[in-house]
Amino acid sequence: MTAATPAGAPPGPPGRLEEVADGTYAYIQPEGGWCVSNAGILLEPGRGGRPVLVDTAATRARARALRAALRGLTPDRPRLIVNTHFHGDHTFGNAELAGPGTVVVAHERTRTEMAAAGLGLTGLWPGVDWGDIQLVLPEMTYRQQLTVHQGDRVIELIHPGSAHTTNDTLVWLPRERVLFAGDVVLPGCTPFVLMGSVAGSLDTLRLLRGLDPLTVVGGHGPVSGPEALVGTEAYFHWLQETAAKGRAAGLTPLQLAREAGPGEFGGLLDPERLVANLHRAYSELDGEPLGQELDVIGIFGEMVTYNGGVLPRSHA
Ligand SMILES: [Zn+2]
Repeated sequence: MTAATPAGAPPGPPGRLEEVADGTYAYIQPEGGWCVSNAGILLEPGRGGRPVLVDTAATRARARALRAALRGLTPDRPRLIVNTHFHGDHTFGNAELAGPGTVVVAHERTRTEMAAAGLGLTGLWPGVDWGDIQLVLPEMTYRQQLTVHQGDRVIELIHPGSAHTTNDTLVWLPRERVLFAGDVVLPGCTPFVLMGSVAGSLDTLRLLRGLDPLTVVGGHGPVSGPEALVGTEAYFHWLQETAAKGRAAGLTPLQLAREAGPGEFGGLLDPERLVANLHRAYSELDGEPLGQELDVIGIFGEMVTYNGGVLPRSHA
């Protein structure tokens, strides 16, 4: 944070609402890097009933700004909050956004991973003004798929298996053909599968292309179309090929990342994620189960090393 940033205000640019279908809003927080995540607001069609919210931002100040944006659309608190996965930048705002009777829903493993991680994310970026965060775990969980009926609107929650994490939820609106993809798709940002799977991400992207969305709202980055799915697939194919060559040459993931660099994906934000993604690709080449737990803290340290020994910037 700079001295010019007002106390409690987000240090990066503020979030903005984009209506992507009738009564269907993406809440986009630029530029979308580490911990600067998007959300979704779904108003009940025609009736002005209570909204459904997808994800709740990272810091207290950013959650408050999201709440103000919601209030600009409806006086009502959410009927339902969907957490797309356990990471704190998508869940720490649950307490700020929930009101009386709000139900937080997520994949069953999101709940257990959230409980295990606690507020650990705040320790990775001690320079961020996180504010007072109260962890609110999902009280309703599902295993594979759950359909929510919000008036005439159909909202499908789909767990695709391991992708960005082991517990992702895709929020699919089949009538509007709008997909809230969580961090499975990160337009303009480097994908990140340290806690998920490369092969599982590719399976998930095939599933998503089959849904044939018109609009894709990723967990970070600008609103996109289906081209975001194609670009993400290309990254993971490149990652698998790069990892196979580097492993055959006896290089560690960090050595390989330094040697190969981001290649044609150099324009994406947060390039240091390559080190973590290569660790995940190596794990899969070694035949370990998809989503196998890796040494997150140690690999995060290698990302810092790749980044010239400095912590990657977070504008949360
Ligand atoms: Zn995430």
